Formats: sequence, C-alpha cells, structure tokens
Amino acid sequence: MPARTGQQYLEAINRQRREVWIDGERITENVAEHPAFRGVTRTLAELYDMQHDPEYRDELTYVCPETGERVGMSFLQPRTREDLARRSRMFYLWHSRTCGMMGRSADYLNSAIMAMAAAADYFGQADRKFAENIRSYYKYVRDNDLLLTHTLINPQVNRAVGPSQQVADDIAARIVDEDDYGITIRGARLLATLGPITDEIMVFPSTLLKSGPEDEPYAYAFAIPCDTPGLRFICRETFDYGRSHQDHPLGSRFEEMDAIVVFDNVRVPWERVFMYRQPELCNGLYAETGAVVHMTHQVVTKNVAKSEFLLGLVSFMTEAIGIEGFQHVQEKVAEFIIALEFLKAALRASEADAQIDRWGLMRPEFSYLNAARNWYPRTYPRLVDLIHQLGASGLMAIPSMSDFEGPIRPDLEKYLQGRGVDANTRVRLFRLAWDVAGSAFGQRQALYERFFFGDPVRMAGALVRSYDRKHLVERVRQFLEAPATVRV
Ligand SMILES: Cc1cc2nc3c(=O)[nH]c(=O)nc-3n(C[C@H](O)[C@H](O)[C@H](O)COP(=O)(O)OP(=O)(O)OC[C@H]3O[C@@H](n4cnc5c(N)ncnc54)[C@H](O)[C@@H]3O)c2cc1C
Repeated sequence: MPARTGQQYLEAINRQRREVWIDGERITENVAEHPAFRGVTRTLAELYDMQHDPEYRDELTYVCPETGERVGMSFLQPRTREDLARRSRMFYLWHSRTCGMMGRSADYLNSAIMAMAAAADYFGQADRKFAENIRSYYKYVRDNDLLLTHTLINPQVNRAVGPSQQVADDIAARIVDEDDYGITIRGARLLATLGPITDEIMVFPSTLLKSGPEDEPYAYAFAIPCDTPGLRFICRETFDYGRSHQDHPLGSRFEEMDAIVVFDNVRVPWERVFMYRQPELCNGLYAETGAVVHMTHQVVTKNVAKSEFLLGLVSFMTEAIGIEGFQHVQEKVAEFIIALEFLKAALRASEADAQIDRWGLMRPEFSYLNAARNWYPRTYPRLVDLIHQLGASGLMAIPSMSDFEGPIRPDLEKYLQGRGVDANTRVRLFRLAWDVAGSAFGQRQALYERFFFGDPVRMAGALVRSYDRKHLVERVRQFLEAPATVRV
C-alpha cells in the first residue's frame, strides 16, 4: 500500500476496538471522533494528506525500490548525505506545518524502526529470528504507513530501587509467561504519548537493566496493535478544551495526549518479539543500532521548526506593542535567534560530517546532535520564561473571540488594539503566546521538552562519561609543564 491519506488514517483508528479510558469513560470505537482527540487526529490526517499534495509529494515520499510504491520519506534508509538531507527536509516540512508542537508525528518512531531494521543483526545476536522479526516489522509499518507510539518507562512508584524490588514484581511491566504462541506481559509502563490514536505500540527497553536473572523478566522489546486484548490506555485530562482555533490555537490542533499503559496479561506473538531476556542487549540497543542518532536527527529538525515559530511569535508580539526598540527587549529576542541558529548549525554539521556506519546507513555525526538534545531541554523553558517577561499583562488581556461578537466589542477594539494591529489580531496573537507559554497545553510542551528524551540530569551524566576529553586534559597538563618564558 502506498503512503496513506488522512481519511485512511482516521478510518483505521476509528475501526480498531481499543481500550482507552478518559475521565472515567471507556472508549472503544471511533476514538478519532472523541472530543479529546478530534482536533489532533484532524491535524495528523492533514499531515498524511500532505504526502499526496503535488506541492509536497516528492519531498515527503519516495518510491520504495522493493514495492515500487510511494512511501513516507521517514522510512528511507539513508545511504548518502543527500538522503539525510531528504529526510530532514521531510521532517522540517511536517514540523513547520505543526509549529514544532507535535513531537510525535509518525516520523519520530519511523526513524527508530528504520535504523533498527538496518541493524537487524544486533537483534539477531540472541536468536536469528529476532533479526527477521525487526526487518519484517519495519516493512509492515512502512508499507501500511502506520502511526506508532512507544512506552519505555516503568511506573514512578519507587525510583530508589529497580523494577524487581518494587512492592509487587509486576508493577513494572514484565514477562510472566511464554509458550508456543509467544510471551505474556503484565504490569504497566508510562507514558505513551499519542498512544490512544496510534495504530501500534512499541514496548522497548529504556532504563538501565542489571545483568542476571533478577532483571531478565523486564528485558524485552516488542510491538503490537493498539487493540490487542488486555492493553489499556489511561489518559490524563485533555488540554484541548473544544474551543475554536482562534481561542485556543495550539491546544485545539496539536494536543498529543499522554497515556499510562497497562498490560493486563497481554499476549504477544513471537513474530512481534525483537528482544527477549537479554539485559545487556537491551541496554545497548539505542546506541549500538544508531536508532538514537536518527531519532535525534528528527528531534533537532523539529526543534529548528519550533524555534523558528517562537522567534516569529516574539518578533510579532514585540512589534505589536511597540517594545521592539528597547535594548533589554532586543537582548531577549536575541536569545531566540541564538537558539535557532545553534540548532540549525548542529543539524547542518551533523549531516555534513555524517559517515557510513557499520550497518551500512549514512549516520549523522552524533556529537553535535547530542549536544543539541542536551541543551534544548534547558533552553526551551528559558524561552518560555522570556515570553512571560515580554508579554506581561498582555498575556492576560485576552478575552475570548465571542466577546468580539457582543456589545463590548467597541471597548475591545479601542483598548486592545496594538501599534499598527487591530484588537482582534492582537488578542489572537497574545492568546497564541499564552498557549505557548502559559496554558496547560503550553506547560505540557515545556515539560515535554525537558523530559521526553529522558531525565536531563542522567543524560548529562552519560554525555560527560562518553565524551573523550583525555587529549584536552593532556593539553592543559603540557601547558602547566611548559618551560617558563620571559615576561615582557
Ligand atoms: C510530556 C511527556 C511525554 C512523554 N512521552 C513519553 C512517551 O511517549 N513514551 C515514553 O516511553 N516516555 C515518555 N515520557 C517519559 C519520559 O521518558 C520520562 O519523563 C523521562 O525518561 C524521565 O523519567 P521519569 O519521568 O520517570 O522521571 P524520574 O526518573 O522518576 O525522575 C524524577 C526526578 O528524580 C530524579 N531521579 C530519579 N531517579 C534518579 C536516579 N537514579 N539518579 C538521579 N536522579 C534521579 C530525576 O533527575 C528527576 O528530577 C514522557 C514524558 C513527558 C513529561
């Protein structure tokens, strides 16, 4: 099947009889029509439709040599630097459309699966059938243009001890049985962003596992359809309040939803198992296969689009209220420019210095991407803070659009106009700024950027441990030991 259309995506999600809980209600069918998901599923459908738009088709899809069909560009296994540029162009087009506010559009996990399939022999070390499984799964997802979610983290019950030492050994999802059909999983994982409205869920390793029998039941990787019996998504409240795009510009379009995932004796067939009871292989998965690099390539491109959007936003805001000439305002706007340019530089350098890896893929140079993925979780909350400082009371002088329809309209038009912008435009602009920096949707974005790739503290620790600094220490040592020179 070629790259799918928005309508095909919506029909697939509505057809699956999955178990989704939200606000005490259980939804099984027509999930895409539920008020919590209606806005975001239309946005996802728009992204799928872009693949068929003559203006974008050649940049968003490629002809798959194996099937002769046009498939999504994020499935392309890059062999050249040009391929990497084609991939990042695709990411950029989708994320420009969503203002960088939808980290979990399909390209994120397609990038992971694409890299893992190329590195199938890594999975095959334990058993050759696992290599075959991951290759076939990649083709299945590519050829059906499926949307994936993933869940990696154990419930936050007691972080002082590992998964096997919690108050019950099946709090963290674990293997409880196996037979000729496959394995049985019981317990929970969090979170699955977008989970209730995706086709399939990847349940992969993430936290560091101990070698030995105690952590083996927690060492696995598999993927299953979201309507697999026993699989339950428990949603938080929605941040799409059912308001218009003018009133709630981001939440009404891009609310991705985060869900807890419960596995109530879920049966997973062997052909969908990719890793099994191998803690060491699980621990090395992302780095050894290169999946983390291709995922970060997508993330940094998304953050370029997001930072461009924020820069456009603050530039418009500062002009709209006539503060753009003040020096401290320029100093603040400069932080947005610097963030954007650093991200663009990291992305470009990663593609320019890319090398073929041991799996035959053109791998972007990770050091630049790794620096960017460690830096943005700290930078994004700072940018949000700057929007507060620049917007001030304007972020609260935001009556809803229905006020513009009523008798107080003359007041609004007089007192809420900006410098060279009418009141309606100014209010919509500041409502947008509030959705970025203040609303529940905006605060979730900030939390997402802080944590979605992992705990920033432990990520920084991993960066320090893996960064080769010996030659730099040696340089300092040599400087200290150099013979004294005569001072002039
Ligand atoms: C909006 C959002 C969306 C997400 N979407 C997904 C998703 O789709 N799929 C998915 O799998 N995950 C998702 N996550 C989860 C994300 O991967 C985790 O938030 C991240 O890995 C951190 O883990 P945690 O939340 O369990 O925090 P914890 O590990 O519980 O950390 C909480 C605090 O305790 C500290 N801490 C805990 N343990 C240690 C330790 N051993 N050493 C030092 N400090 C420690 C941390 O530094 C942190 O300050 C999402 C998270 C958010 C916020």
